[in-house]
Amino acid sequence: MVVMKMQINGKAAGACGGEFFDIKNPATGELLEQVPRGTEDDVALAVEAAVSAFESWACISPQQRGMVFYRTAGIVRQRKEELAVLLTQEQGKPLVEARNEIEGFAHVLEYYCGLAGSLRGDSIPVPGNGYAFTVKKPLGVCAAIIPWNMPALIMGWKIAPALISGNTLVLKPASNTPLTNLTLASILTEAGLPAGVLNVVTGPGETAGESLVRNPHVKKISFTGEARTGKRVAELAASGMKKVTLELGGSDPMLVCDDANLESAVAGAIRGRFYNCGQTCTAVKRLYVFESIAGEFIKKLEAGVRSLRVGNGLDKSTDMGPLNNFRQMEYLKGLVDEIEEKDEGRMITGGKVPEFKGSDKGYFFEPTLVSDVPGDSRLLKEEVFGPLLPVVTVKNLDEAIEEANNSIYGLGASIWTKDLDRARIGCEQLNAGIIWVNQHLKVAPEVPFGGVKESGFGRENGPDALSEYLETRTIMLKT
Ligand code: NAD
Repeated sequence: MVVMKMQINGKAAGACGGEFFDIKNPATGELLEQVPRGTEDDVALAVEAAVSAFESWACISPQQRGMVFYRTAGIVRQRKEELAVLLTQEQGKPLVEARNEIEGFAHVLEYYCGLAGSLRGDSIPVPGNGYAFTVKKPLGVCAAIIPWNMPALIMGWKIAPALISGNTLVLKPASNTPLTNLTLASILTEAGLPAGVLNVVTGPGETAGESLVRNPHVKKISFTGEARTGKRVAELAASGMKKVTLELGGSDPMLVCDDANLESAVAGAIRGRFYNCGQTCTAVKRLYVFESIAGEFIKKLEAGVRSLRVGNGLDKSTDMGPLNNFRQMEYLKGLVDEIEEKDEGRMITGGKVPEFKGSDKGYFFEPTLVSDVPGDSRLLKEEVFGPLLPVVTVKNLDEAIEEANNSIYGLGASIWTKDLDRARIGCEQLNAGIIWVNQHLKVAPEVPFGGVKESGFGRENGPDALSEYLETRTIMLKT
């Protein structure tokens, strides 16, 4: 069996405890590779390496740091197909989505390479014969803990602003998807990243993840994952006075007004919900449609959803791959059983394991549409992380916005209308970190990204992300 090792201090490393765990293909159940089960001792070694590397990395110019990213992005693009296949094998998403994600990783590195020259403080005139200056300093050793839904992209979102700012880092991938992360880390080393600047420790969240958060040398934790885990991470970080960025779950509403372009709204809802098998933090998770157009809209939506082809992400004809893991599958099945038992909604289409050759080997689930969902249903209250879309009818925009904001989450939201006034009202009143008009899901490294309410705090991407990894020191000068 092939073993892909951790990356500590620029070298491949096994776990101190000598144990491994299996990484399986969610489409076939086949064993892909094994990776070391990192322990607290491995985390300590990785942090030690990051501490040792910090001073020299922080001293070189941001432009020189950026050149490593630039070279990395070039190699990643050359190896795009191989990386995309690996990502599909461990995560399940269709190859076309995996290619996008690998491109996204390269793009975010290039973006922060371009921002390298903009890392600077301010000079502030003060009364009297003096000046105040601010200088920006890296924090030291940072930790990045990431989920399995977009492992390559989220790795890029975290490592690029952290490293360009002069910090060193320990990354803990999700237990189901470490292979692409490990390969990307080895490409960074090949591109000239000095030993110890980026270290990757694989292992369970409760052990490897928590030891990383508790380690006294770690100054900042950037976490992406479920709200519940984020709260635990924040609790642990608080006792060590560590800075935290929390990118947590969402339950994004999509509002379809009666003047919307129905064709593009239907396409947007399908892509918004079923991309990555519904396992995207900013997926459309609740759909509110004006009742005057609901009949026509739902009919078109149903036809589109029924036409999606479910299968192995490596097959060219696949529109939607499997769920990533057993826990996801059980969750989805449990939700559907509950809808049926409590008679809480009408299943328009889907709700079952699809039938095709080999479908019983993977975590496949049909793309599912449900209507007539009561307001207090779990489908509207929880973050449904899978291919199930509840459709709710509303009388008007006021009701749609009220329902949309009636959630503990506030990651994204979209409004679909041709009316500029309605669009403006949506942008002003929807309570979310990112609001789209006539689109949903689109993100870019240039654009700040993050949530409000229980979707977390802090921002990734854009220049905003740099301030998450820098601290301001003030110098006051009197002549
Ligand atoms: P998760 O919270 O289960 O795990 C995320 C990471 O945290 C993994 O690496 C895991 O091993 C680690 N972890 C688990 N317990 C830990 C602990 N006690 N201490 C430290 N680390 C621990 O989330 P998941 O199931 O991997 O990912 C899905 C979730 O991520 C969804 O809620 C989704 O919305 C969210 N997400 C949010 C964003 C965003 O930017 N807001 C992006 C992608 C995914």
